[in-house]
Amino acid sequence: MNKFLIFTAPSGGGKTTILKKIMSSYPQLNFSISATSRPPRNGEINGKDYYFLSAKEFKAKIKNDEFLEWEEVYQDQFYGTLKSEIKRINDNNQIPVFDLDVIGAHNLQEKYREYSKSIFIKPPSIEVLKERLINRKTEDEESLNKRLFRAKMEIEKAPCFDHVIVNDKLEVALQSVDKIVENYLSTSVL
Ligand code: ADP
Ligand code: 5GP
Repeated sequence: MNKFLIFTAPSGGGKTTILKKIMSSYPQLNFSISATSRPPRNGEINGKDYYFLSAKEFKAKIKNDEFLEWEEVYQDQFYGTLKSEIKRINDNNQIPVFDLDVIGAHNLQEKYREYSKSIFIKPPSIEVLKERLINRKTEDEESLNKRLFRAKMEIEKAPCFDHVIVNDKLEVALQSVDKIVENYLSTSVL
């Protein structure tokens, strides 16, 4: 395993927004596209945002040992990192950037501690998180409630990670993340 970066946060915490900006500044980084059995949101593209699979296809890949890690983040909704995705990024001589739920992030960090740097993106409060998820207009009521219910547990796990960045003012959060990434990349490649 080469070095890599892990981003984690509750759904709606701002990972996608922050990652899009960071990825555009560092060509040596490459976003690890996860597989998921959840349906695509409006505007999400298969093979760009996620590899969208049916639950049956996802489970077949688990059985076939095709995942580096996977989690059932919400009931009947699976998310995971395909080994083939890491190979794709390594073959390009780039550094993988993972967007993972807190459990997957914690497991990967513990397994490859000396190679990784983890960044937890923290919403200013559950109320603000709810407001942002509602404004994003991507979740129905059931999905919104699932995300908010899990967010409480996820926020409690923040101290497990190397850095905790509060995403209140976006520009401030972006600057802090940028500093961490720049610093990480400037240290010698393991
Ligand atoms: P995630 O990828 O973690 O689920 P998103 O990046 O989609 O989260 O962010 C959730 C919503 O909140 C999006 O609509 C995004 O535009 C908005 N958002 C993200 N960061 C901020 C911020 N600092 N201030 C206000 N809105 C934000
Ligand atoms: P969303 O449905 O909002 O895109 O993602 C829900 C949660 O799943 C987020 O916390 C996101 O970080 C997490 N997630 C996305 N891809 C993966 C993955 O490959 N593995 C794990 N463990 N979690 C993932």
